[in-house]
Amino acid sequence: MKASTFEYHPATSVDEAIQLLAANEDAKVLAGGQSPVPLLNMRLARPSLLIDLNGLTDLAYVRRDGGHLAIGALTRHRDVEESELVLKHAELLSLALGHVGHVTIRNRGTVGGSISHADPAAEVPAAMTALDAELVVRGPSGSRTIPVRGFFLGYLMTLLEPEEILTEIRIPLLPDGTGCAVEELTQAQRRLLHWWPSSWP
Ligand SMILES: Cc1cc2nc3c(=O)[nH]c(=O)nc-3n(C[C@H](O)[C@H](O)[C@H](O)COP(=O)(O)OP(=O)(O)OC[C@H]3O[C@@H](n4cnc5c(N)ncnc54)[C@H](O)[C@@H]3O)c2cc1C
Repeated sequence: MKASTFEYHPATSVDEAIQLLAANEDAKVLAGGQSPVPLLNMRLARPSLLIDLNGLTDLAYVRRDGGHLAIGALTRHRDVEESELVLKHAELLSLALGHVGHVTIRNRGTVGGSISHADPAAEVPAAMTALDAELVVRGPSGSRTIPVRGFFLGYLMTLLEPEEILTEIRIPLLPDGTGCAVEELTQAQRRLLHWWPSSWP
């Protein structure tokens, strides 16, 4: 199937993207494009306007900011996974990103896109929750900071307002010497854990 007709606008600033979102009720933003593009092609999503954030290179960074790591929402998974700062101060996130799809997916997908998309099976939202991250979002009336715990309301649902854009993720630095591990369970393993009587070894 082919996507239905839509306008395409490459945003030149966050403010411009917010204005376009506010002025067009069914507009959507595009980051790595890995989730919306299949939805468009299957016509499960039919936005009238697609606002491309990929030109906003000032939203792609990892830096230390006092007691936090600040990660721009447009930073690609792979850049975060390989960041020396992330490996030193939030290794859990790097380990979790190693489980996201494969390298080609991680070269394109963005951390902000993964959090905004809110797929409960996704690694980035889970890692951000474990790391007690905060999310900086911007809308027509300015910026607000939301603790990631409480941001996810359900399947593909978050506290983001339709005209808001996630701009930055702030992660408190892990104390030196903190150890991290990430283990993933398949659906079948989860069922087995439910079924396994707790008295069994
Ligand atoms: C084959 C394949 C395998 C994958 N495997 C995995 C996996 O194993 N684990 C995993 O976690 N993910 C996986 N993904 C998902 C992928 O890694 C991306 O994380 C995900 O698609 C969202 O990131 P994106 O940058 O592509 O955002 P997009 O797909 O562009 O956007 C996703 C949604 O968020 C909105 N959005 C994007 N950025 C912002 C922003 N800054 N502010 C507000 N709203 C925004 C968009 O409007 C859209 O609704 C896979 C994808 C594919 C295609």
